[in-house]
Amino acid sequence: MEAVRAHWFGSLVLLAVACAGDLHDAGDSGLDDSSQDDLGDDAADDSTRPDAPPTGLEPGSLDVTWIHGAPNCNASPDPEWQRHVYNATTLIFRQSKCEDFEGPFVYLLVGETRALLLDTGATNTPGLRDLVRAEIGTKPLVVAHTHAHGDHVASDPQFAGQPSTLVVGRDRGSVEATFGLAPWPTATGTYELGGRTLDVLAIPGHEGTHIAIYDRRTGLLLTGDSLYPGMLFINDWATYRTSIARLAQFAAGKAIAHVLGAHVEMTATPGQAYPYGTTYQPNEHVLQLAPAHLVELDAALTAIGDSPRRQVNDDFIIDPTGLRPALPAKPAWTHPLWPQ
Ligand SMILES: [Zn+2]
Repeated sequence: MEAVRAHWFGSLVLLAVACAGDLHDAGDSGLDDSSQDDLGDDAADDSTRPDAPPTGLEPGSLDVTWIHGAPNCNASPDPEWQRHVYNATTLIFRQSKCEDFEGPFVYLLVGETRALLLDTGATNTPGLRDLVRAEIGTKPLVVAHTHAHGDHVASDPQFAGQPSTLVVGRDRGSVEATFGLAPWPTATGTYELGGRTLDVLAIPGHEGTHIAIYDRRTGLLLTGDSLYPGMLFINDWATYRTSIARLAQFAAGKAIAHVLGAHVEMTATPGQAYPYGTTYQPNEHVLQLAPAHLVELDAALTAIGDSPRRQVNDDFIIDPTGLRPALPAKPAWTHPLWPQ
């Protein structure tokens, strides 16, 4: 999701990213492409059941109920960041939608010699940094990004200049050099964490420096804002199509446990998304997608062809439009994390 900071975020308007053309046409009321029923608290029973990983992969658990905002964020008990242990060396954090409606997910992969944090969220607090350091102590930390949009990089200043910490630059040259992605974007790079090798692919299209990471240890494929259960904003249609095709080709030969993106915006009802900017998703889609979703996305893009158009699938929405959605209205409630 793009970092469209609502104007009422006050000083939390950290890195308003001017990205005209990468917004979509969701209305400011009602649900996206479907009716408003079936939005109760009855999340699907199988939503958090961990799947057995393909043979040879280090398993992990997604048996978790993610924080998902609140009808009244002023009364929400949600922490700024939810910490989920996928396994002993793989953690997933979700930011509170009551702090930022984007509610991004970020990933911590810990190797023998260093750890990699993928994205820093939409916050200007040291909360995530403190959580990460609580996990890894003084181990060297590399802070990288799926892409350079504000809701994925806003907490970078909290990491910059800290001991044993390297923040990868957001420019293409830095990303390319760090992960061995020359020639961009066709090269597949590798990145070594110590006993844990990551494959890195450039997948521009949502944004020009977007990458995907495949963790050979767990079989997790981290896809940022290029594939997740939500509205896939596509800023460069042709480039995005090529990137997804290349990623699908890469993934076809790999053992993949889950495809994990950076947001959830779909409901648990197929084809139904929450309205853009919502801060309450009581019946949201699970975070994890399967390799089949990548195949589905690639096939859908191929079928649509050279003329971009919007398409609603069960678990994601292809959204190449340049239409600007309505920003969420200022909420009636207050929240201690928001300046008044
Ligand atoms: Zn995003």
